[in-house]
Amino acid sequence: MESKDRSWVEIDLSAFRHNLRALKKHCEPHQQFMQIVKADAYGHGAIEISRVAVDEGASLLGVANVEEGKLLRIQGCNSPILILSPSLPSECEEIVSYQLAASVSDIYFAKALNAAAASHNVSVKVHLKIDSGMHRSGVALEEFPALWEAVSALPHLEVEGIFSHYAKSENDIQFSKQQLDSFHSAIAIYRDKVKYIHIANSSALINSLSEGDNLVRLGILSYGVYTDAGQADRIQLEPVMTFKSHIAQIKEIEAGEGLGYNLSWIAPHDTRYGVIPVGYADGYDFMLSNRGKALIQGKLCPVIGRISMDMTCVLLDDIPDVACGTTVILMGVGDPSLRVESLAASYGGSSYELLCQVGRRARRYYLEEGNLSHLAPIARRDFVSSDFTDSKLSQIIQSAISQRLRDEEIGELISREILRVFFFNKDQDIHYRKSFIHHISLQDSDNDHYWRAHTRLGFRKILQNDYFIVACATSDAALRKYFMRKDVEYRWLMDDSFELDEGAFKLSEVYVNDIRLEVKVKRQNNCLELYCHHPLLESLVGTEVSFRIDTASYYPKASHQLSVFINELTHGVQVSLDYPPSISSMEVVTVFSGQNRYPTVTREAGKITVHTRDEEWVFPQSGVVFAY
Ligand SMILES: *Cc1c(COP(=O)(O)O)cnc(C)c1O
Repeated sequence: MESKDRSWVEIDLSAFRHNLRALKKHCEPHQQFMQIVKADAYGHGAIEISRVAVDEGASLLGVANVEEGKLLRIQGCNSPILILSPSLPSECEEIVSYQLAASVSDIYFAKALNAAAASHNVSVKVHLKIDSGMHRSGVALEEFPALWEAVSALPHLEVEGIFSHYAKSENDIQFSKQQLDSFHSAIAIYRDKVKYIHIANSSALINSLSEGDNLVRLGILSYGVYTDAGQADRIQLEPVMTFKSHIAQIKEIEAGEGLGYNLSWIAPHDTRYGVIPVGYADGYDFMLSNRGKALIQGKLCPVIGRISMDMTCVLLDDIPDVACGTTVILMGVGDPSLRVESLAASYGGSSYELLCQVGRRARRYYLEEGNLSHLAPIARRDFVSSDFTDSKLSQIIQSAISQRLRDEEIGELISREILRVFFFNKDQDIHYRKSFIHHISLQDSDNDHYWRAHTRLGFRKILQNDYFIVACATSDAALRKYFMRKDVEYRWLMDDSFELDEGAFKLSEVYVNDIRLEVKVKRQNNCLELYCHHPLLESLVGTEVSFRIDTASYYPKASHQLSVFINELTHGVQVSLDYPPSISSMEVVTVFSGQNRYPTVTREAGKITVHTRDEEWVFPQSGVVFAY
């Protein structure tokens, strides 16, 4: 497939199914299998791989630690999960609460796990681990009976399995047979008391080293990677993971010039090469310097020079007409030399490691029968909301609220009842004003009892209709209904000694963007209704526009106070008042709800300004009161 990403990983779930079916043919009829999904399923994505494996009949899933098991549970996986590595006593609580099964090779750990299970009054499944010759984790063969006795006596642990692990099942049959024999003789008198006996990993299965087991643990072979050259005769595997990128730049180099850090590659003749935006930080191993290969337009091109942190160069000798942006396959399908095992062998490295690290900066695309079935975001520590679908975002927000409140029920309620109304119902846009400016200027007038009041309102907002209304009334009661209406952008309360007419309250200028609106004045419901309209507005409905509303009116000196209300959700507020020298003292009180309850107040001679920063949200029910 194609992608616009700098690099990406394709996970072919059909190939994975194919490999599992091929491996199952090597199982005895009574043998079940555990899908190993540790380390995010060897870099393939644990939840996606688990789903397919369970669909193909996996009885258990194997993870490395409690975190991995917990993540699968949170992602909705209900299958039995076994933690393969030894856990720490500090992890017992979570093992219990996420209903994971633990490996036990130590009585002290077993007691801690039993205690945690007892405190929840539940039973936890454990698999006892025997060291049959690898000498890594597990209890020594001769100490197994003591471990068995001790663990069997713990009432909250249920021994579900006994297992061991091979040291070199891929290429040393003789040593492995010894391990198998030791394992089976150590457990002979216990084997009928547990559900699962298991020692074989995937290589052991196809080397017939699972005799006497009723469970096999399938890892690397299921991901389509051979661990030994001879295996191809016994089983045909298809790579599941493919790592791709694009050519980002094409350049020329002259014979004798060196390339990359340390100039470790010297051009043997004048030639061209491509720069690929992938380096060891993307998991493309540094050891592939001067060794790796890239498949471009069906031709294998050698990696030249050192792999940098973020870039790799490839020789374009064989494809003279290749263009920038051309897709490049760095690992996986397409050519045998791009198989993980070939690349790892080229530098004496490990296929397991290469699989785990490749694509650290890449998105994963899941394919089934060649079609994209799903994609997983880049693994990042920082949350980038656009990486997620809306429903996933809703889930994340809801669980974040629940965690904050330590109460799932209230968290669910808040997210459902309140936030959903604002944000989740996509068709219900939230309307808010941006960069809101309200400027009022009071001046002496020809009337001794009144100030001349000029106001200017400015803000940006998505235009709802091809008109809006400004309302003016002489009583609160008359004005009140205009607070409910969505098509009213401004309201002014007039002193009741005035006649409601344009002499008392006037819209001097009204603009939307640079369109000057026509104003029609109507008297209605004891109000002056000013209808602002222009034919050009129709084409702007639904887009963000800037409003400017200028008014001229009067304000009673005897009022001794002037209030500005903020009745809509607003992003950034500035309210200012100019007053004449005849007002000797002017006080200001702010009542703000929202992100910042204390806006900045600045004073100059005859002027007070109240403002928040542009990016601060101010909630409705906020306001400023000036008192003189
Ligand atoms: C990783 C692991 C496996 C899988 O081994 P493969 O070689 O990848 O098949 C099996 N068992 C245990 C205990 C493991 O840790």
